[in-house]
Amino acid sequence: MDIHEYQAKEILAKFGVAVPQGALAYSPEQAAYRARELGGNRWIVKAQVHAGGRGKAGGVKLCQSEHEIHDATNAMFGRKLVTHQTGAEGKGIYRVYVESAVDFDREIYLGFVLDRTSQRIMIVASSEGGMEIEEISATRPESIVRSTVEPAVGLQEFQAREISYALGVPTALTQQMVRTLQGCYRAFRDLDATMVEINPLVITSDNRILALDAKMTFDGNALFRHPHVAELRDKSQEDPREARAADRGLAYIGLAGNIGCIVNGAGLAMATMDTIKLAGGEPANFLDIGGGATPERVAKAFRLVMSDENVQAILVNIFAGINRCDWVAEGVVQALKANPVDVPVIVRLSGTNVEEGQKILARSGLPIIRASTLMEAAERAVTAWKNDSKQNTRMRAV
Ligand code: GDP
Ligand code: MN
Repeated sequence: MDIHEYQAKEILAKFGVAVPQGALAYSPEQAAYRARELGGNRWIVKAQVHAGGRGKAGGVKLCQSEHEIHDATNAMFGRKLVTHQTGAEGKGIYRVYVESAVDFDREIYLGFVLDRTSQRIMIVASSEGGMEIEEISATRPESIVRSTVEPAVGLQEFQAREISYALGVPTALTQQMVRTLQGCYRAFRDLDATMVEINPLVITSDNRILALDAKMTFDGNALFRHPHVAELRDKSQEDPREARAADRGLAYIGLAGNIGCIVNGAGLAMATMDTIKLAGGEPANFLDIGGGATPERVAKAFRLVMSDENVQAILVNIFAGINRCDWVAEGVVQALKANPVDVPVIVRLSGTNVEEGQKILARSGLPIIRASTLMEAAERAVTAWKNDSKQNTRMRAV
């Protein structure tokens, strides 16, 4: 789960990381008022969206008066900010963060990630802050410092000092740098984050180390342990289809095609998407209903897939290992009887009790298109989608 910059700064500040003075606003009037409260005469207004690259996309503006703040934020509110990280549809701007502007001499890149190879939290830093890490690794790879933290002892001072020296931070600021590194590490570890990124971390003209930007991502499976983090979720920044799925405990990724997929198991879901493409179609989503494909879960999955207006056919692909095909078939039939859908439904079952499953589908009287292999299922789904969309008469109450 992602959170906003101002939320990440608030968290990191509690762990001892120095951040600029700032205040949140929900309207241009409030933004101007916030600037007056902060005082000074130069402010940075920053669109709060769950994406980086805001600076280059017009989401970060230096302002020198309350009027400028009003006008700059007026142009932001309600708009979609499109950055290289948002995709073409962009992310809505509903909050802006106003900060006192800071003069700085140097920008440092600082990131904490989960390194799966070493199974450790890894610190990735570079003396070349300000640009994205991808750009740094392409243009100045020699500037990147990597260091993994031994979990039994945590980030030790000597290790943090080494990183500070490697980045060429002046020795007078080593202690501040150690504090920053340890603060980020503790926030990462204590709150089950999967990423902390400060870009840029700056050395100010008056010799302070300050996090000008902050990004944190959390492990969704650990959110139950951190209600204060969980409540920072902002659904306005999520794909609405994915937000609905997450609320219902389903693993769902929205895609741009027309064939909805209901599958048990992530590997099978990927194979299904590949096969749909091979058959000449485009999947509308990735939906893993999990191992226990109970009638309730199947019904939820149908409702979710149907709420995507682009869906013109649904392919159900179930492999029953521990599960049972007859049970899944019962679920599909119940789901479709309770919530009829007006697009072709293709069902492919395989595994335990497959014959009984097929019989249940056949006996149901529902116009379910059956298939026995995955390729056959994908081809039938693509054919059914093409025929159905030709009629082009879909009307549906969502
Ligand atoms: P991002 O583009 O989404 O990563 O947003 P950032 O918060 O990193 O802001 C983009 C750029 O704006 C930074 O790399 C800085 O160069 C600049 N910037 C942000 N805050 C300040 C500030 O307080 N003073 C100055 N001079 N520049 C700032
Ligand atoms: Mn940044």
